[in-house]
Amino acid sequence: MKHVAVVGTGYVGLVAGTCFAETGNQVICVDIDKAKVEKLRNNVVTIYEPGLEVLFKRNLREKRLHFTTELAEAMESCDIIFLALPTPPGEDGSADLKYVLGVAKEIGKLIKSYKVVVNKSTVPVGTADKVRAAIAEHATCDFDVVSNPEFLREGVAVDDFLKPDRVVIGSSSERATEVMQQLYEPFVRQGNPILVMDERSAEMTKYAANSMLALRISFMNEIANLCDKVGANVDMVRRGIGTDFRIGKHFLYPGVGYGGSCFPKDVKALIKTAQDYEYNFQILKSVECVNESQKHLLVQKIEAYYGGREHIAGKKFAMWGLSFKPNTDDIREAPSLVVIHALLEMGAEIVAYDPEAMGHVKQIVGDKVTFASLAEDALNDADALIIVTEWNEFRNPDFNSVKKRLKHHLIFDGRNVFDNHKMKELGFEYYSIGRPTCQ
Ligand code: NAD
Repeated sequence: MKHVAVVGTGYVGLVAGTCFAETGNQVICVDIDKAKVEKLRNNVVTIYEPGLEVLFKRNLREKRLHFTTELAEAMESCDIIFLALPTPPGEDGSADLKYVLGVAKEIGKLIKSYKVVVNKSTVPVGTADKVRAAIAEHATCDFDVVSNPEFLREGVAVDDFLKPDRVVIGSSSERATEVMQQLYEPFVRQGNPILVMDERSAEMTKYAANSMLALRISFMNEIANLCDKVGANVDMVRRGIGTDFRIGKHFLYPGVGYGGSCFPKDVKALIKTAQDYEYNFQILKSVECVNESQKHLLVQKIEAYYGGREHIAGKKFAMWGLSFKPNTDDIREAPSLVVIHALLEMGAEIVAYDPEAMGHVKQIVGDKVTFASLAEDALNDADALIIVTEWNEFRNPDFNSVKKRLKHHLIFDGRNVFDNHKMKELGFEYYSIGRPTCQ
């Protein structure tokens, strides 16, 4: 059993803390957000993440999971301190390290005995050295800094954390590496590797992974856009290439662009790192550029359908899906926000539905958008349905009811949720991404 502190109790920190507690460790999570800590202490999970609530409640009840706003309290008992702090993009695209380095400095002032300080935030190459220097400024005892990037996906974060494809440990200290290996042993019992490497390679691995995934999305979006032009069907093309084992089936789905708190900022940050080292990372610049235009594609399709933006004023749209992807309430950089802002600007009315993310979107758009409590209710008297996030519950609706409720049998689907032939049979005008519209 280890004593673990996790600083920053957001999507990564709360999942990591809960899963470390689940494997028998004593965990204390720290956050500066007093309201969040209060809720967590009172048995309320602060994010939507499938499977988290059961684990969270059990570990809280069995007193392996604790919460505090005081870093000093967490520092007293722990052997390992994880930093799961935000690293948002600064004005020049680089990852802003003020949270990470601020906490590192505090740790330096508070540290009284040997600890392993683990950076789990996504940070540019060289950050481990900066964290080490920030702690060393005040520290009077030994410590080690380890880079341990996190690869969990929101929506399946608990599964990903409990059974990671791999654990990456960037460390130049044998003592710290051993502590980390012991901590992660229960998560890799099926034989997935713990990869030990130097800190810089570990930091780079995280950016390389996210950039490669973003690249696949932008590549497929461009293939889909070209399919639209030449009359090919991207569904067929996707299967045709995904069966090649060198390519693989995953991450080949076109849509209205990637969002979330990671891909956009990590792509930006890696471009900036390259710039700092006078390297022109051309392919990543294109990935970002393609994604920006892809977020506008659905609105462009809607504009084209109505023959120009001036005909959109006064139209009422039902919108299904707001979170940046299914199974999360996270709306950071969500394409839905781009679609909402564009349509509102053109004078359209929007009635939106999302199983988990409506509260967060309401905080941004206020009363400008109406929110329905059921997916079907959003459809009433709408001129068209727009699908932006592919939640499973949208995949098999009662199409008769959808037809009765919509004013026009018209659907713009940004995630290719339905089969286009079936939609034709059902009597819908159906526009999706990279697939011919069946007339
Ligand atoms: P988040 O915004 O959900 O959580 C960060 C938390 O840190 C917030 O609760 C905030 O209140 C808290 N915080 C800020 N300053 C603090 C301080 N001084 N002391 C204590 N707490 C403080 O962020 P996240 O999505 O969990 O991401 C954290 C890091 O992990 C980022 O670097 C991100 O890139 C990386 N990451 C995120 C994901 C993901 O899917 N969200 C996946 C892998 C890696």
